[in-house]
Amino acid sequence: MFRATVLTLFPEMFPGPLGLSLAGRALADGVWGLEAIDIRSFATDRHRTVDDTPFGGGAGMVMRPDVVAAAIRGANGPGPLVYLTPRGRLLDQERVRELAAGDGVRLLCGRFEGVDQRVLDACEAEEISLGDYVLSGGEPAALVLLDAVVRLLPGVMGSAESLAEESFERGLLEYPLYTRPQSWEGREVPSVLLSGHHEKIRGWRARQSEEATRLRRPDLWVRFGAAKDD
Ligand code: SAH
Repeated sequence: MFRATVLTLFPEMFPGPLGLSLAGRALADGVWGLEAIDIRSFATDRHRTVDDTPFGGGAGMVMRPDVVAAAIRGANGPGPLVYLTPRGRLLDQERVRELAAGDGVRLLCGRFEGVDQRVLDACEAEEISLGDYVLSGGEPAALVLLDAVVRLLPGVMGSAESLAEESFERGLLEYPLYTRPQSWEGREVPSVLLSGHHEKIRGWRARQSEEATRLRRPDLWVRFGAAKDD
């Protein structure tokens, strides 16, 4: 069973949306497990303090290394320790796949301005970012990462085929999708998709994937070209 351990000041945010739909069913079926650990329960003073002002000055508060380290060391879940932070490497499908192939992950969610760097260094945390924007806490980022990982666990998604076709699996964005009705508000489904000609459909989809990637994500397109030339 894949085991997710989340270290957070808001354990009640979990499983949250991961308790519903595909991930929720898999959680109930024991395909994966989730433990949310309250960092505050590792605070030692009377006021259960977890944060303090930053050395060097500046706005906001920083999560204390002693309390965070106690929480990390007190949690005995398997897998790499990941700190979610805008300073981290961008999460991509490749890392998601690697994590899903392991036995678990431990996710450290920051609040306030973030976590004292020394505890990240001491515990060799891998720093991962969800994107170039700032969230108010690591919890929504942890939920997103786990959603992406859990759907790859064996038995969670119906068909392995639908996974193989998806955006990023081959380094490209997915082709556009269509379903019934065939004609909707005067808009038609591309006729090739109605032709029953599988070879033509495959070709059309491949071109659409490449076109969308080239126009929308030149960064991915460059990487795709480089990978092909290897
Ligand atoms: N002062 C920080 C932002 C703090 S936001 C900075 O300027 O980089 C508070 C917490 O939210 C962070 O500690 C982190 O755990 C989480 N967070 C915010 N944005 C994130 C992002 N893009 N990806 C992952 N985690 C994020």
